[in-house]
Amino acid sequence: TSPLGSQANKDELGRATWTLLHVLAAQFPEEPTRSQQKDVKTLIGLLTRIYPCADCAKHFKEVVRHDPPTVSSGTELQQWMCRVHNVVNRSLDKPTFNCNFVGARWGALDCGEQLACDMTVGRPRK
Ligand code: FAD
Repeated sequence: TSPLGSQANKDELGRATWTLLHVLAAQFPEEPTRSQQKDVKTLIGLLTRIYPCADCAKHFKEVVRHDPPTVSSGTELQQWMCRVHNVVNRSLDKPTFNCNFVGARWGALDCGEQLACDMTVGRPRK
């Protein structure tokens, strides 16, 4: 294990967070409710303020300001996530990812039980 604040720690936090964000996007409904759209915007907005690496949060805030989250469908959100991840990749001199393959890299969670992870289940009527 590495001491708090080290690059290794920061990288691990980054990988864990990108996993959360890409899997969330993969699972986001094609026809999200207004409240689901609002929730994702809130989550991203919170990350720009309380992501536990202050420099990263500050940079991500600028990234999001230039390219606000597109939340009208799962596909839109997946592409946005890929785009902003690439902006971060570029700033760190990492290779960019071809967003045509985002669906192959990040899929929805397999929860075993049928529909157990499906965000469209139990959704309120419009
Ligand atoms: P990661 O970038 O963590 O990616 C994990 C995996 O995602 C990759 O192995 C690849 O398979 C896949 N992937 C890569 N790019 C994409 C893409 N565009 N779309 C879909 N999948 C992709 N670190 C800093 O040092 N400074 C920062 O300012 C900084 N800002 C960050 C801001 C945010 C919001 C987040 C979540 C992380 C930030 N990080 C920052 C961490 C950084 O982005 C990486 O997570 C970290 O450097 C580890 O990189 P990695 O090479 O293991 O792969």
